[in-house]
Amino acid sequence: MKIIINKKQYDFDEQLLIIDACRKLGIDIPSLCHHPSLSPAASCRLCVVECLNSNSLISSCSNTIYDGMEIMTNSPRVINARRMNLELLLSNHPNDCMKCDANGNCKLQDTAYLFDVDMDSIGRETRSLKIDDSSDFIIRDLNKCVQCQLCVRVCDEIENMNIYSMVNRGHEILPDTANSLPLSQTECVSCGQCATVCPVGAIVEKPSLKKSRWWDLEMETTTCPYCGVGCQLDVYYSREKNEIIRICGSTSLKEVNDGVATCVKGKFGYEFVNHPDRLKKPLIKKNGVFTESGWEEALDYTAAKLKEIAETHSGNSIGFLSSARCTNEENYLIQKLARVAFKTNNVDHCARLCHASTVTGLASTFGSGAMTNNLHDILESDVILVTGANPCENHPVYASRIKKAIRNKGAKLIIADPRRTELVNYASIWLNQRPGTDVALFNGFLKVILDKDLINHKYINERTTGWEELKSNLEKFDLDFVERITGVNRDLIVKAAVMFAQAKAASIIYAMGITQHVCGTHNVMSLANLSMATGNVGKYGGGVNPLRGQNNVQGACDMGGLPNVFPGYQKVSSTESLNKFEEFWNTEKLSDTPGIPLTEMFSNDRIKALFIMGENPAVSDPNSSHVEKRLNEFEFIVDLDIFMNETNRYADVILPAACSYEKNGTFTNTERRVQKINRIVYPQGDSKPDWWIINEISKRLGIEAEYSSVWDITDEIAECTPIYHGIVSKRISGKGIQWPCRNSDDPGTEILHEGKFAFEDGKGRFMKMDFAPPPELPDKEYPFYLSTGRVLYHYHTGTMTRRVKVLDRKVRNLKVEINPEDAKMLDINNGDKVKVISRRGEITGEAKVTEKSMRGLVFTPFHFAEARANRLTDHKNLDPLAKIPSLKVSAVKIEKVK
Ligand code: SF4
Repeated sequence: MKIIINKKQYDFDEQLLIIDACRKLGIDIPSLCHHPSLSPAASCRLCVVECLNSNSLISSCSNTIYDGMEIMTNSPRVINARRMNLELLLSNHPNDCMKCDANGNCKLQDTAYLFDVDMDSIGRETRSLKIDDSSDFIIRDLNKCVQCQLCVRVCDEIENMNIYSMVNRGHEILPDTANSLPLSQTECVSCGQCATVCPVGAIVEKPSLKKSRWWDLEMETTTCPYCGVGCQLDVYYSREKNEIIRICGSTSLKEVNDGVATCVKGKFGYEFVNHPDRLKKPLIKKNGVFTESGWEEALDYTAAKLKEIAETHSGNSIGFLSSARCTNEENYLIQKLARVAFKTNNVDHCARLCHASTVTGLASTFGSGAMTNNLHDILESDVILVTGANPCENHPVYASRIKKAIRNKGAKLIIADPRRTELVNYASIWLNQRPGTDVALFNGFLKVILDKDLINHKYINERTTGWEELKSNLEKFDLDFVERITGVNRDLIVKAAVMFAQAKAASIIYAMGITQHVCGTHNVMSLANLSMATGNVGKYGGGVNPLRGQNNVQGACDMGGLPNVFPGYQKVSSTESLNKFEEFWNTEKLSDTPGIPLTEMFSNDRIKALFIMGENPAVSDPNSSHVEKRLNEFEFIVDLDIFMNETNRYADVILPAACSYEKNGTFTNTERRVQKINRIVYPQGDSKPDWWIINEISKRLGIEAEYSSVWDITDEIAECTPIYHGIVSKRISGKGIQWPCRNSDDPGTEILHEGKFAFEDGKGRFMKMDFAPPPELPDKEYPFYLSTGRVLYHYHTGTMTRRVKVLDRKVRNLKVEINPEDAKMLDINNGDKVKVISRRGEITGEAKVTEKSMRGLVFTPFHFAEARANRLTDHKNLDPLAKIPSLKVSAVKIEKVK
């Protein structure tokens, strides 16, 4: 289409807003209320342009261009109108720029400067509203509000929380909370997006106040170091202070977090970087005391000790813990070190505790153990089944998108979860099955769908195998049986199953409520069966979508941080893979025997030493007391970390690592998207990136590899990993690339299994399974189910988030969630001190009496080292295929502490 702007003709091939079209051409148009990720409000009227076709002034942020349109952006009429609107805004704006936190980043200030406004000539009457200082995260001063509605829109359209709405009329209209409550008394989850979009100083981030002026800051974009969503963040930092000052959702990248979104951890969780507790020097334990050393001494000593252990016992006596928090490059190097220098496959990491059953379950049904669809695709779903996942706490930015799919796109939500998670408020159906009965529930779903002939015959015939065997196995799962086992009313099961089967596109989202069971692999397979039988795999809006918990747990698996596979899931037991890697790494005699998984490393006497990178098994692994006992027994432990923690106090050497804001590399998020992390600040003290540390140790153990930068490792990964072949360092920028990406022309893969599955014959495999109850059920002595998990404000074992004051203040100690009726029976009130006791140990926390827990179920987060939920869990009962422990079902008793 052709449009004329300022008497010059331009061609456009897309329907843009006038403001965006002009900005694309470099024609500046002022605006306070426009945001590329939000719907237009046309409220500030600073962006007006003159439309010659209609002889009128129109707002450029709410009108699109059309063929033959003729506009002026700089005519006297436009300039006068803008000036008048600007002066109206300035007439009630406090003139306190000198001390305003937004000074230097204020669009009103910039526009006043542009228009050379004489403030003295404007009749001024400012508001005198009370400042809302109640939140630890943000301050709201509506005296400065320019009524742009950006805070209202971002909270409504992106966060889907509706904390604010515009109240009053005319020039008194302002964004306020319901009943004008202070923010701290609302449902606000402190995502901070209102502060990110506020164009003036009306909403500002409290932790950033008085730290630095905007003009002293530099900005770099990187990937969030917390959950598997992988939000892109614009990080503002002071070069002089080597300190992060504030973080905003990246405006330049929309793929993952909509060009603006963050959760409270991504937005405010950076204070740990400069925390005084950071490890700054290598430490060697001498006579039982950690003593600072230089790098040469520490690296030489570590390499020599590892060599000595291998010579004394064999390379197979060393266990290597790679890390879901470290980069792909670092995970690649640690498994290479284990396999090449020690000829062992004893490499594993905490995926063993969260999604090992996803890998085994989806690899055996679909041929690939990863999320099938992408994170935006949920907006295409008609029905969404969320089971064993609590995204509002664990994957908040994605949770907001699920809410959007329901509120704006009309999707129906089914929740199958023993806990009443926040998403239940948005659900059409909530099935609160007994913990550990998922196999019965989802086979029951499939039986209903089969009996009602709602299966997708064509899909089953053309794209799958094993249906007949599964079909006959389903006979056992009639509604009598399923209702008895799961405790869910049969009518609800039927309603949910029919709703799922009749959807044009039905998506399944799950997390650790499905995987952390001794039947975790079967749970995953039952979901895969359900999705294939209804023809939902390999299409937009469908799929089976495991939500990975940590920032790079997908990448750590992809890199071969697992005992049975080389990078890219190439099996260690395959002669072809062995030959390939022996040649590629210029070595011989790589081991073809799968190594010892993490959950057995602490029980297997063959393991004499540990090489740990960025993990804290003393808190994260089941049965902490057992883990600690074993940590005490190992002959040698080297640990790479950013802090001292409950694990590395047992180490012989601690090597101080750089955190993700201090190094370069890549993370792979839960939707298989490989994204860059960019160094923002310099490492604290003498700390070094883990890849540098591992490489130095590798060199001392005879591995010849010179990397001029981390990007050489990225390229080495691409060379030997078919699903990463096209993901070379120079291609990974901006929105990243989703694997599989097989060559340099391949744009990557949004949806897996379109047309064919990842097996050689291209067919998906139905897998049959029987229901087996969890190994430890409540009984007379231990009458409650215990489920463990996470809360919004903390991350994993709390080493980072508990060192961020505002996050720590929000949730300071262990809360034990208990149903009101159970609490009443035990005479427990909110806030009472309670003991949770299992056959393995006991912990003390504060009772939180809540309907979130169904009767007979208590929930505790595992973030708190001083009250470790894993003191209670069992390390012995493992899924036989995935070796994942039963972290979601233990039997406990509760005692009120008098
Ligand atoms: Fe970071 Fe996850 Fe929050 Fe995004 S949703 S900001 S990736 S913690």
